[in-house]
Amino acid sequence: MEHVNVVIAGGGIIGSALAWSLAARGVRDIHVVDLDLAGIYASSELNAGGVRATWWQPVNIETCRQSLDFFRSRSEAFGFREQGYLWLYDDAEHFARAREKSKLQNQHGLGVELLSPGEAAARCPLLDSNLHELVGATWSPRDGLINPNAVRRFYRSEAEALGVRFRNRHYIDGVVTRRVEGETGTRRVCAVDVIEVEGVDAADDSGALREILTSHRIPRERRRRELRLECDVLVNCLGAWSTVFSGKLGIRDVTEAVRRQICLVGFDRAALASRVDFDALGMVVDASDLYFHPEAGHVLAGYSIPEEAPGFDFAYDGADFFETFVWPRLAHRASAFERCGHVRGWSGLYAVTPDCSGIAGLVPGIANLFEAHSFTGRGVMQSYGVARALAERIVDGRSSSCDIAPLGRQRFATRENWLPETLHI
Ligand SMILES: Cc1cc2nc3c(=O)[nH]c(=O)nc-3n(C[C@H](O)[C@H](O)[C@H](O)COP(=O)(O)OP(=O)(O)OC[C@H]3O[C@@H](n4cnc5c(N)ncnc54)[C@H](O)[C@@H]3O)c2cc1C
Repeated sequence: MEHVNVVIAGGGIIGSALAWSLAARGVRDIHVVDLDLAGIYASSELNAGGVRATWWQPVNIETCRQSLDFFRSRSEAFGFREQGYLWLYDDAEHFARAREKSKLQNQHGLGVELLSPGEAAARCPLLDSNLHELVGATWSPRDGLINPNAVRRFYRSEAEALGVRFRNRHYIDGVVTRRVEGETGTRRVCAVDVIEVEGVDAADDSGALREILTSHRIPRERRRRELRLECDVLVNCLGAWSTVFSGKLGIRDVTEAVRRQICLVGFDRAALASRVDFDALGMVVDASDLYFHPEAGHVLAGYSIPEEAPGFDFAYDGADFFETFVWPRLAHRASAFERCGHVRGWSGLYAVTPDCSGIAGLVPGIANLFEAHSFTGRGVMQSYGVARALAERIVDGRSSSCDIAPLGRQRFATRENWLPETLHI
């Protein structure tokens, strides 16, 4: 058995941000354990790169606002483009609520504007079809687009420079907690049972990585070494896999892993060039819930299929996804997309909670066990703000940069304490 100070389970964008935040506060002997630090199936590598602070719950607005300020301060390194979010509405009641929430968002300095359909089309001249269906739009100029992999790389390299150890190809197979008697009294330590795994390289030619991350089992022939890592602080940052970990402690989780697909769309840019500066556009969220933005000469478009069943499913439906869900919605709103084509796409996991807000804080009843996961479609944009506040909570006993107590899992005991996020894509 090895004893270390902190174990962070999961080295996605959340685990990496937390490792850096803790190390920057002087915490030493931090170990981040991940099966797949290359992130082939990590949501942090598979997302759409949209970042906004325009949520409906103050804790989500504030943590995202802090992240955006941080991204802005290093915009070149992170490929941060402050090109705004344009959100279209065809439902009057929904738009009225967005209008109401824009007041709260503007108290956080977000400068959200309410637009008529005509003003929305002027802001984004791509939009030229079926505008009569719309009742209005919101425009949030301080939101934007980012390269999430660059952000994660930054967190990780800064953490490494401060001595954090990232243990790649290590799978957390078990977790236990026990009381230890010492000179200063009784304390509780947590421990994780870790398997060093053979043959799960980044290329994943054999499908071994996917098999493990969907079945949660390590085949006998891939077990190179088994060890127990005991620690004073343990943090569950396993994203969509956080429930597998909690289950081993007998904790019933509310999170579900749900597949989300996105694709790159090719279209005739030359035909558009005379009237639209396509690369200057930000994120557009259509009233049909399709979202899209410019991405490396293409359009990146995503859509959450409402009846998608929960599960650890990484299948990508390819051209079927594009033809059934993406193309009809794009072409319905913009004639430039009447002729466009599927380039490629992929799927990743959303970790979805009943109120669509993430979970962060101390796990009630288990001293020294913390968690930060289930950020649904918000993990990149919440990473800096939540990691900073949680690191403060762990080191100082309270979060001073932002009170993240509302994000604690205990909120699910009473529906009144839920943090519903309706504009969830
Ligand atoms: C299609 C899609 C689009 C999205 N778009 C956006 C967006 O535009 N903006 C935004 O902010 N967010 C977006 N998100 C959400 C965002 O990507 C996630 O919230 C965020 O990446 C979660 O990060 P994480 O570190 O919690 O989890 P992950 O990045 O999934 O990391 C978890 C890690 O745990 C590892 N792991 C799992 N089990 C074990 C184990 N037992 N032992 C060791 N390691 C283990 C995995 O290998 C993985 O590396 C999107 C997500 C998807 C899927």
